[in-house]
Amino acid sequence: MSNKNSADMHRSEQRPEFWALSMRCCQLAGTVDICFFFIFLWLGSPILAWINVISVGMYVWAYRAFRDRRNRLAIMLIRTEVLVHAALGTVLVGWDSGFHYFLLMFIPALFATMRQRSAWTLAVCLWGYYVGLYVLMWFIEPLQPISPNALLSVNIFNFTTVFLMFAYLTMYYVVTVTRAHRRLARMATTDPLTGLFNRRHMVDLTEKLLAREQRQQGKLTLMLMDLDHFKDINDQYGHELGDRVLQRVALLLRDQAREQDFVGRWGGEEFLVVLPETDPEQALVAAERIRAAVQALDWTDLKPGLQVTLCAGISQLNDRESFSSAIARADRALYRGKAHGRNRVEQARLGDAGLGLAEQPV
Ligand code: GH3
Ligand code: MG
Ligand code: MG
Repeated sequence: MSNKNSADMHRSEQRPEFWALSMRCCQLAGTVDICFFFIFLWLGSPILAWINVISVGMYVWAYRAFRDRRNRLAIMLIRTEVLVHAALGTVLVGWDSGFHYFLLMFIPALFATMRQRSAWTLAVCLWGYYVGLYVLMWFIEPLQPISPNALLSVNIFNFTTVFLMFAYLTMYYVVTVTRAHRRLARMATTDPLTGLFNRRHMVDLTEKLLAREQRQQGKLTLMLMDLDHFKDINDQYGHELGDRVLQRVALLLRDQAREQDFVGRWGGEEFLVVLPETDPEQALVAAERIRAAVQALDWTDLKPGLQVTLCAGISQLNDRESFSSAIARADRALYRGKAHGRNRVEQARLGDAGLGLAEQPV
């Protein structure tokens, strides 16, 4: 496959929504042409009516080509149909029929499917085609003229259709972009395994909260948790089961947290809960509750006999203390819990002040 082909393939695969929209446009355009078939039969212009039958056939073909992932063929069919139909409609019925409006529908499609340079080139060509058609109609009379009233009706029908198509296209575009934005924001801030906030987002949130709390002299307490002997769980039962354990503990943390708390995955088997408006004594009670709840979790559906416990270290952010310093103190407290036999909650002490070996890079 040539580079250009693979690049095009890549572009089309990147935009599944665009192809879904293109298929929807084929349906819409086909329906409009079926309407035209009856309109022109009623106006007594069978040639124009049958042109629309050919158009419907081309849209059906393009729709099936999109469905079979033959996107290039589908686009070529649609382009040919619109270019020829707009020109034929204009030459046969006159400029005032408004068939040329449909050419404008190409502009967003060009920029959505092509590289900018090619899209601009084709947009200029399209403009030339449009001007050419306009100038031509200055010099020739319509070949199949219809009555002025019929011309007015066809014109209104055409610009109404183009209005609706543009409105639909724009709405679809805005909805798609908004959805993509939300998805990206979620991906950037959450941990894919547990659905909790990721480390970077926890840092951002806490830094912001910290600035506010320090301004308002509020209390902010950190609860850092680490599962006990988690490596053994992985080694004994496999990484996949380890993942399930992480997910279930994450769920429990989310359930246990209050609305104003932030819960995040701090590292592999480490979790951080940030508790605004909470002093260490209250955090101690909450951590003890979490510790007991994790110990009491029922794992029989995953691995009968499995026992999971954790240690938690608690530190309150002191005046003008940095987040990383408070994390380091929570970490020291946590490792004191490990040293004292695990399945424990420990509070940071004065002696834990400063950044030690156990500090996590933030
Ligand atoms: P300790 O009680 O001292 O904390 O011991 P530990 O075994 O829990 O700690 P250690 O740091 O030795 O091992 C942590 C393990 O967590 C090692 C690593 O493979 C595992 N781990 C980290 N991230 C993931 C993950 O996303 N999924 C799974 N299944 N395991 C993970
Ligand atoms: Mg660890
Ligand atoms: Mg551990």
